[in-house]
Amino acid sequence: MPPESSHKIGGVSNTAEKPWSRKSPDGPWDVVVIGSGMGGMTCAALLSKLGRRVLMLEQHYVPGGFTHAFPRKGYVWDVGVHAIGEVTRHTLSGRLLHRLTDGRLRWASLGSVYEEFYFPGGFRIDFPDNPDQFRANLIEAFPDEEEAIDAFLLKVREVAGTMRSYLASRTFPRRLVGAVEWLIARDAQRFLEQNTAKELAALTDNPRLRTVLAAQWGYCGAPPSQSSFAVQALITRHFAHGGYYPEGGSPEIARQLCRTVAEAGGWTRILADVDQILIERGRAVGVRLTTGEEIRARRVVSAAGVGSTVRRLLPASETAKDWAEETHELEPGPAHVCLYLGFKGDIRKAGASGANKWFWGTWSSEEGVWDVSDPDNLEPCPVLYCSFPSLKDPRHDPGPEVKHTGEVVTFVPWQTFAKWSGTRSRRDRGEEYEALKRGIETSLLEQYLEHMPELRPMVDHVELSTPASTDYFVRPVAGSIYGLLPTPERFKSPWLRPRSPIKNLFFGGSDVAMVGVMGAMMGGALAAAAAEPVRALRFLRRL
Ligand SMILES: Cc1cc2nc3c(=O)[nH]c(=O)nc-3n(C[C@H](O)[C@H](O)[C@H](O)COP(=O)(O)OP(=O)(O)OC[C@H]3O[C@@H](n4cnc5c(N)ncnc54)[C@H](O)[C@@H]3O)c2cc1C
Repeated sequence: MPPESSHKIGGVSNTAEKPWSRKSPDGPWDVVVIGSGMGGMTCAALLSKLGRRVLMLEQHYVPGGFTHAFPRKGYVWDVGVHAIGEVTRHTLSGRLLHRLTDGRLRWASLGSVYEEFYFPGGFRIDFPDNPDQFRANLIEAFPDEEEAIDAFLLKVREVAGTMRSYLASRTFPRRLVGAVEWLIARDAQRFLEQNTAKELAALTDNPRLRTVLAAQWGYCGAPPSQSSFAVQALITRHFAHGGYYPEGGSPEIARQLCRTVAEAGGWTRILADVDQILIERGRAVGVRLTTGEEIRARRVVSAAGVGSTVRRLLPASETAKDWAEETHELEPGPAHVCLYLGFKGDIRKAGASGANKWFWGTWSSEEGVWDVSDPDNLEPCPVLYCSFPSLKDPRHDPGPEVKHTGEVVTFVPWQTFAKWSGTRSRRDRGEEYEALKRGIETSLLEQYLEHMPELRPMVDHVELSTPASTDYFVRPVAGSIYGLLPTPERFKSPWLRPRSPIKNLFFGGSDVAMVGVMGAMMGGALAAAAAEPVRALRFLRRL
């Protein structure tokens, strides 16, 4: 059924429900954006609000990147959205998203407890939706550590306080950036270059408290020994007022942001696989698709990940340059497997809720990646991250069969799956892959049901995605869940900025800002601000 706002742009049908298609209207385009993840969509929507005509190109058959979802047998699962913080009007990011979607995107709280942690020995701690209760929960669990807990929370506030000027400093032209960063971003830079494990060790001798303070490191993909302290602290800050979920599910994000692009005369084109960024006389002038079609624009933004752009989308003349080689050396984050579950029955009675559950099988924060190289002899997984999307969405209708969804995520090494990179079908992947997948699926399901046994009779559908699936559908480097690993080294790189060293080529997405959906959003906004500084400043000031 065509919605009320259905009309045609350049012969392409524009509907509010599905503002994208395989075809695009004719140019000219002010900006071509490569990739329709959160970074690309935010950049495209912001540039659209600034009066630019934008074409967003997405290789997958749906937009959204890691915010897309997929259906099976009447169930729908999100691919990369379980909990998002800082979406309310009290935060800059929340106000920006509100403006970019004209208030159409609504968020549901995951509840007064948004996350539950279970550690060996029956230790449980809940992360609540307000900072005072968080402090109280930590002190109740570690009564002798009040001083260390307060010192940690103070540091978190200090880090957060430096971020706005840090992000602003990223948008300046390269020739000014050194001075600007020294003037307004050096405190942030100091925190970004600190290491989490070292900072936590300086705060407390209690190893269990250190583990709990970093228990959410799964949200950045780097364990404390590797991560930037600022990133770990920003995760705590991000969820200080709880976790949220988009009403209608994560595809609602793409629906609303792509609609903003379409309403300004732009478009989102799916199944548009960019082969190369066109560079002429040192400037980006457009892109060539794998079909050979060339699309020209005054500016190009790549929101396909800086690592992917440098490795896959630049001509050889550019990839040989020092900046590209240095960027190439930055390490990607870990890959993951996800068990997608369909249930029939009242899963709340079996202990499920809107809160995510982390079942840690170890007190070591360093053991987070599950070795799955031998599917016949799998050890227990170090951590299971479990989520019930249908219970988070107030618009979910379980229907007469009482259908609900669950997801179980854990990190695995990319190397085990690298040989299937670029393949899609069972035929391509062969029996070795199928056996590996079966082994992981069976083991993961059993481990999960040990924690939540009452769900067993309700399980109706089980499906596993592997890093080979991630590689095929979203194409991050090495199947990485979060793009580049957020280490102190990453934040020392002078190349991860929205302005690339190539004129008229900009980078957007999480690699140029922070990890996660809102990190990618800020990365997209930075790319738009770098491309259109005057208009963007005027827009952002009014938020
Ligand atoms: C299992 C999982 C759970 C997660 N849970 C959370 C969570 O609860 N909260 C949270 O904040 N974050 C979470 N994340 C992380 C979050 O989803 C991502 O960090 C964020 O969405 C990344 O956005 P992005 O725009 O930087 O990149 P992406 O979403 O990766 O977008 C890049 C886009 O570029 C496209 N592309 C690549 N190459 C080309 C090409 N050649 N031509 C055209 N298009 C191309 C890709 O198809 C993709 O659409 C999770 C991620 C995963 C995988």
